[in-house]
Amino acid sequence: MSTYVTTSTSSQTPIGPVSESKIFYIGELNRAIQNNELCLHYQPRYNTSGKMVSLEALVRWQHPQHGLLYPDRFIPLAVEVGLIHHLGLWVFEQCCNDLFSLRSQLQENIKITINVHVSQLEDLQFAQKILDICLKYYLSLESFEFEVNACSAMQERTRVLEFCNILISHGAEFSLEDFGTALTPLEYLCLLPINLIKLESDFINRIGFCTRSETLLRKLIETAHEMNLTIVAEGIEHAYQRDLLVKMNCDQLQGSLFHQPVALEKLNMDSTLMPA
Ligand code: C2E
Ligand code: MG
Repeated sequence: MSTYVTTSTSSQTPIGPVSESKIFYIGELNRAIQNNELCLHYQPRYNTSGKMVSLEALVRWQHPQHGLLYPDRFIPLAVEVGLIHHLGLWVFEQCCNDLFSLRSQLQENIKITINVHVSQLEDLQFAQKILDICLKYYLSLESFEFEVNACSAMQERTRVLEFCNILISHGAEFSLEDFGTALTPLEYLCLLPINLIKLESDFINRIGFCTRSETLLRKLIETAHEMNLTIVAEGIEHAYQRDLLVKMNCDQLQGSLFHQPVALEKLNMDSTLMPA
């Protein structure tokens, strides 16, 4: 099995409580977005027949001094200071660019999954800018799925709904990630127009060690199916996790067991599941 390079620990984070360093990094991040220091890694997601169904775009920051930084080092700051909108537009435009150049290699129905923080969905101008970028690249929003990270509460439910409905009317799909955590309450299944949920990876980590987690997983999968939702397990590192999830009828799988997140040029476009 391939080893997985974990993300950096919070003790290394440059985003400390000291406001001076925060101000410094706000400037740094702003500059990074302007200077194209950000880059995207992609991780495939597969259905249980082994077909690649989506590529999840995961942002990284190639910092001139600190090297490659993972999102936990800068996304929280970007959300806090409102730079997430600027960053989100960079990510979306880069995905369009990549998709445009990948078109000949990609099967038509493979989607690009874009991570969005729930606060990004409170900005209707962001929705309009997404439509404008799609037009610029002659792409349809049918190629995109927006994966909502609801790690902070929705402030403006009506606006979030309006945002989703605008993009859905142009073919986009929405999913909810980290499902099962305290911050993604069950009611989001009813409030948001999503058609896919991603299970919180802690559930996957407990497979083989905690029978209650396994029971919960089975019930969540059954419930999702009763609601006509597709259910995805991510963070799969071991064959025994995959085997149980397949047995439980989980629809789609993602994790380093199959393919690590990598730069576009390192992506293995083979459409079958990688061997364990
Ligand atoms: P996420 O969307 O839940 O992404 C999954 C995370 O798990 C990624 O971390 C990925 O690199 C990691 N991962 C993949 N396979 C495995 C595995 O087998 N085992 C384990 N333990 N982890 C695995 P990453 O890239 O550090 O991203 C962290 C989070 O940052 C993402 O969590 C997502 O919520 C957020 N994020 C990433 N890119 C963006 C972005 O462009 N915009 C926004 N708003 N958030 C982003
Ligand atoms: Mg995600």
